[in-house]
Parts: sequence; structure tokens; C-alpha cells
Amino acid sequence: MVEIKTAAELDAMREVGLVVGRALRAAREAIRPGVRLVELDEIAATVIRESGAKPAFLHYQPRFAPTPFPAVICASVNDVIVHGIPDRYRIGEGDVVSIDCGAYLNGWAADSAFTVIVGPADPADERLVATAEKALEAAIAAAVPGNRLGDIGAAIGAVGRAAGYGIPRDFGGHGIGRHMHEDPHVANEGRPGRGLVLKAGMTLALEPMFMAGGKDRYLTAEDGWALHTVDGSRAVHVEHSVAITDDGPRVLTLV
Ligand code: MG
Ligand code: MG
Repeated sequence: MVEIKTAAELDAMREVGLVVGRALRAAREAIRPGVRLVELDEIAATVIRESGAKPAFLHYQPRFAPTPFPAVICASVNDVIVHGIPDRYRIGEGDVVSIDCGAYLNGWAADSAFTVIVGPADPADERLVATAEKALEAAIAAAVPGNRLGDIGAAIGAVGRAAGYGIPRDFGGHGIGRHMHEDPHVANEGRPGRGLVLKAGMTLALEPMFMAGGKDRYLTAEDGWALHTVDGSRAVHVEHSVAITDDGPRVLTLV
């Protein structure tokens, strides 16, 4: 079931969206060479707890995972696409770092992610990150009443494929609301004009993920969580939680 939220409920979702946005901003500001991924986790955790919110990822165990997730953020570096467990790895110059974070506040969830290049950037990595951000913008623009789910997937897929990137199968965006992961699944590729009709009051987490090597397959790390590219090429992931409204898309996790 896809729940239609009232205006007051969307305002409540904006509250938790702001918490996640602020947690990600704090983590982003701390990223520099020498910083450990676990330090970023502590920074995001502090923002969430001081806001009275609850981390959504900590102890989360979806069907595909062998163990509960042990952290507040996912930290996915270089060839890791998503779901990297933040460890004691020290960020280095030229690293492509994706941070994903979710939280609950007053019974509502938010979920968002960014990718940043540390220090002097490889132009190919800059293009990868810029393309994902462009795909997210296109996805958000397609999140309007009367459009269909396939229009969002098509918008993301068109941007990624035009750049020659791979798109990992099986993973994509999702409904979000009382739970972090709800129906519908939002594929990162699709056919325009197909699928669920979008209505005002629906809320979706839109999250393009691309792999520079152009292949669509991916591998799962030994920890059962991190997904990485099959060819060692770099990957990117960006995400916002978005409300569909009669006044246009409302980006709930933007700060
Ligand atoms: Mg996320
Ligand atoms: Mg998500």
C-alpha cells in the first residue's frame, strides 16, 4: 500500500528530513584526508541523537543482510556502491566518498545520501558525481502528480546511460514514510508512462547509483553488506527523500 500523507504529515516528515540533512552536512564538513570513517559515523550519530531522533540504519536487517547493520551511516568509498560499513579506514586524497544516513522522528522516516571527492579530484570522478547529481535532479523533477513511477526511473536511467555508466540491478529508491523502506520500489531505470500513477501526498526516496565501468553487475563484500563494482571502477550514490505535492516536488532532506 502506498500511503497518501496529509499536509501536516508532510510537515512532520520535513522535520526528520532536516535532521538527516543536518547530520549529513556535519559529516560532509568533517571529510578530509586522514579522517576515519567511524569518526563520520560518530558525528552523524551525535546530530541525530541531539535532535531527539533515532538512527534508522543502526541494527537494521533487511532480508538480504546476514547481520544487523552496525552503524548510523553507510560509508561507501571508491569502488563501493552502497551499504559500506564505516570502519577505521582513513580517507585519502582523491577518494570518492558516499555517505548515506536515515533517521526516525515522531514516527516518520527520512533517508538521504551524498557523494564527495576528497582533495584533488580526478576529472572522471568529477563527471561521475556530477552525472549522479544531475540524475537525482531529473528524478525529482519527474516526481509530480500525474506522472508515473516509470517516468522517474526513465529520467535517472537516461542520464546514467548517456554517460556510459552501469546501473546496479535490484537496488534503487523506495517509498518512505512511517518506515524507511516502503512500497513502491523505485527502479533506477524504467519506461516512461508505465507503472504506478504518482499522487500528491506520496513520499519517495530517490537514489541514483552509477558505476563508472559501465557494467550492471556488482559484487557483495564478505561482510554481506557492501556492494562493490565487479571491475574496481568507481561508483556514486546520491539520494533525497521527496514529497509529491500539487505545488511541485518538495525535497524533504534538503538543508
Ligand atoms: Mg539511503
Ligand atoms: Mg534509500
